[in-house]
Formats: sequence, structure tokens, C-alpha cells
Amino acid sequence: MKNIILLGPPGAGKGTQARSLSDKYGFVQLSTGDMLREAKKDKSKLGLKVSNIMAKGELVTDEIVIDLIKKKIINTTNNKGFIFDGFPRTLAQADALGNLLNKVNQVLDYVIEMYVDDDKLVQRITGRFSCSSCGELYHKITKIPKKTGICDVCGSIDKFKFRQDDNEDSLKTRLLAYYRDTSPLIGYYYALKKLKKVNGLGSINEIQDAIRNIII
Ligand SMILES: [Zn+2]
Repeated sequence: MKNIILLGPPGAGKGTQARSLSDKYGFVQLSTGDMLREAKKDKSKLGLKVSNIMAKGELVTDEIVIDLIKKKIINTTNNKGFIFDGFPRTLAQADALGNLLNKVNQVLDYVIEMYVDDDKLVQRITGRFSCSSCGELYHKITKIPKKTGICDVCGSIDKFKFRQDDNEDSLKTRLLAYYRDTSPLIGYYYALKKLKKVNGLGSINEIQDAIRNIII
């Protein structure tokens, strides 16, 4: 049994890796985003609190996130371990997780930092566009159409569109939050001798091999 945290900036691919490692090795994936969506659906006191906060567009507090994680850890039995993605996000959450695992006689085995070059990350995320006729995906640096303005697949002319949520401003806001609140965890877990690093800019399979070499 192994308990693992995937740490890294938005867009580093933590969710993709967590899902696939869970499918292959039987880990239970705990993602803050999924848990908040789940809590909103149930009618518990905690669920209603989450619904209210999210409806107002406010940030969910450390306390609530920790309560949700606590419920999951206590109610999950017989698993191969937890894989946390998007949690802990702050030092307070990291401390709370350590205490929680302690209480159920478990330890945190590895914290895997998926490091990426910031410029490359911004480039990778903000450069995506697609053909609005056939849906083919392109990238302004790594996969440009063979003929400018013309879709390789369906031949449509000037039908390309950029994704709204991938714009540079929203990514910078999320990156700022990562560096301000979450990146101190790298030093924290290094000092606790839990930290391992993998290059987050490889292909999905390359990254997965690197993670597997550490944890299995
Ligand atoms: Zn097309």
C-alpha cells in the first residue's frame, strides 16, 4: 500500500496521470475538484456549505477541503493506497493530511513533483486551437497546419478557433496561486524526505513510466 501526492502547476497533467495510475494499480484517486463536485450533489451539511460557497464564486476554505478528505480517508477501506491530485494545495492542508494519515495508521510514501518550464507550460496551454468544421486539434508551435489558414483534414479555410479557457490571463492567475500557495510544499516535502521529481513535459507515457519507476 502506497500513498502518493502528485504536485505541479496547473496544466502539468496531474489529473491524467492520477486517473491512469488508479486504473492500472488500484489506487483511490482523491481530487479536490471531484470531491467538491460530489459534495455539492449530496444533501449533507458539508455538501450544502460547499454549494453555497461555490454559488457565490468564493474559494472553499482549507477547513472544508480537509473535512472532505477526512471523510474519504476514513470511509475508504481495502485499497492499494491513495493518490492525491490537486491536494494538498496549502501548507495548512499538508499538515492536516499528515495528521489524518497518522490517525488511521498510514504514512505518506511519495510526493512527486511534476516540474515544467513555465514558458513552455504557457506555450503548451495557450497555443492550442482547433478547426471549427471538423474539430481537428492544432498548436501554434508544435502542430501548425501545412498550409496557413487551411485545415489539413477537411480543407476548411479560416475556420480555426482558440479555446476560451486556455487564454493566457486565466492561466497566469492560476499559476500565481500555485506559486504563492502551493509551491512552498516542494521545500516542505523535501525536508520530510518525501520528494521525488519527474519531468512534466514529456509525453503522457514517458511521464507515467517515470512515475511508475518511483512508486512500484
Ligand atoms: Zn477541419
